[in-house]
Order: sequence, then C-alpha cells, then structure tokens
Amino acid sequence: MKVIENPHEAFAHIDHWKKQGLRIGLVPTMGALHQGHLTLVERSLQECDISAVSIFVNPTQFGPHEDFAKYPRTLEVDLDHLRKLKVDLVFTPSPAQLYPPDFSTFLEPPRSAQPLEGEFRPGHFRGVVTVVLKLFHIIPAHVSYFGQKDFQQLTVIRHMVEDLNLPMRIEGCETVREPDGLAMSSRNRYLSTSARQTALGLWRALSDARTMVEQGEREVAQIEARMATILQTAGADSIDYACIVDRNTLQPIDRLDQPSIALIAAYVEQTRLIDNLMLDPPETPLS
Ligand code: AMP
Repeated sequence: MKVIENPHEAFAHIDHWKKQGLRIGLVPTMGALHQGHLTLVERSLQECDISAVSIFVNPTQFGPHEDFAKYPRTLEVDLDHLRKLKVDLVFTPSPAQLYPPDFSTFLEPPRSAQPLEGEFRPGHFRGVVTVVLKLFHIIPAHVSYFGQKDFQQLTVIRHMVEDLNLPMRIEGCETVREPDGLAMSSRNRYLSTSARQTALGLWRALSDARTMVEQGEREVAQIEARMATILQTAGADSIDYACIVDRNTLQPIDRLDQPSIALIAAYVEQTRLIDNLMLDPPETPLS
C-alpha cells in the first residue's frame, strides 16, 4: 500500500494506473476510521481495480468555534486497517500541501448547501466542495464513494459534479450503525457513557418518525414535534434541527407525499451529532 503525502506524486500514480485501463475508486475521509468508512472502502475494493483513500482533516470546513484542533487523528491505526483491506493508495496530505500560504480560490457551493448544515455551519460546505474538488483533481478516479450518514454532503457533492460536468461517478452508501442503532461517527469517541445513551435519542427519534409514517401520518409538523420531544426526553442539550424535507431539494415540505428524509443535528453535551433516515409514503418502498 502506497502512503503518499505529495499531491503531484499521488496524481502520477493514479494517472499511471488509469493509462493501463484500470478502474479507480476514491474514498475521501477525515480519518479516525470506523466500520462506516471501511464499508465504503470495501465497496470500492469490490467494484474497482484500484482503490484510493484520502485522509485529511480539512481546516476550511470547520468554523472558528468548532472542533478542528481536537478532531481525532489516528493515522497509524487508520493505515493498519487500510493495509489489511489491501487498499492500493492512501493520500495523507498536510494542511500546507493543500492550502499553501497564498491559497485563495474557493468554490461556491450549490443551492442544496444553503439549508440545514448550511444554516448552522456557515462556510462549512464552501470548505467541503473546495477540498473535494481538489481531491478529485489530485485523484481523478472513475468513482467516488460517500456515506448517506452525511446526506446533505452527498447531495451537495452530487450537485457539484453535475453542475461542473465532472467526469466522476458518485456512489452513496448506506449508513453503518452500532447494534443499538447509533450511527457510527468519528465524533462518537467524544461521548461519555451517559452521553452515549443520550445520543441514542437521535436514532429513536428517526425510527419513531418512520413508524409514524408507516402508520399513516402525513403531517410533517406532527412528526417533527414528536422527534423534538424524543430528543428532549433523551436529554439532548440542544437541537439545531429535527426536520423532514424533500429528499432531492432538501427544501421544507408540509405533507409527506413525496420521497422525503428526516434529518437531525443535535448536541449531546459538547458533541454535535447528525443522523438521518429516508421516509417514503407507503406506495414507494422504504430503503
Ligand atoms: P468523514 O471522515 O466523517 O468525513 O467521513 C468520510 C466518509 O465516510 C463520508 O462520505 C461519510 O459520509 C462516510 N461515513 C461516515 N460515517 C459513516 C457511517 N456511519 N456509515 C456510512 N458512511 C459513513
């Protein structure tokens, strides 16, 4: 497994493989890898000839009061996991390699970046689309794998790829959960034992929302109220949003008569957690 810090060197390897006609898969991550990440990697390994993983805690997607400095960094353990899976290349640039001192070009994110995370984390998606576009240039894979765990991010990246005519296929992969339902996240390691229990409220609220829909509830306000109650009862410290939106545009809806999605962002003690679950009217199958 090649571990490469230098963008030009990474490009040269990928270019060489591409010229041999090999299909390249890319999994962008911020490291602190867990089974959620590794499932994306396994999918790439199954579907592609060459699998590349990037590990980069991207400073430009963190707000000034967010957890950039304390974000978990576990590079050696991450590399061990990837070596076992037989990943071909891991790209591990330093911040200075992607953002030299004179760096000043940013990409304007698509409209789907405005609500939800866009509202509560101003500038977040500007940093995400900028770094992902850079990664796509450095590692011009045929296909890149993203998790539905960050559903808005997946939507934003899909729109970016479409709007900019990028020759990259985006594959969304299902959220991997702990046996009790908690979505795996690098930030879960911040949680104390009691916070871990509270965090389960996110999954409980989402599962309840789905049950309400299955039982015939169509009024979004009713379901959103129930999700908020469950989160508060579980002991969430504050709720950024617990809402249901159109699954394609991420715009608010009043009634559940189109493919939609329930999304939550909430603080458990100091840790901000996000999760989501697809909701469909009963005519269309649940995914
Ligand atoms: P991150 O390192 O948090 O930036 O995540 C890197 C990629 O892994 C993103 O595409 C995430 O959506 C995906 N991911 C993170 N957690 C999970 C999970 N529990 N299940 C599936 N994919 C995930």
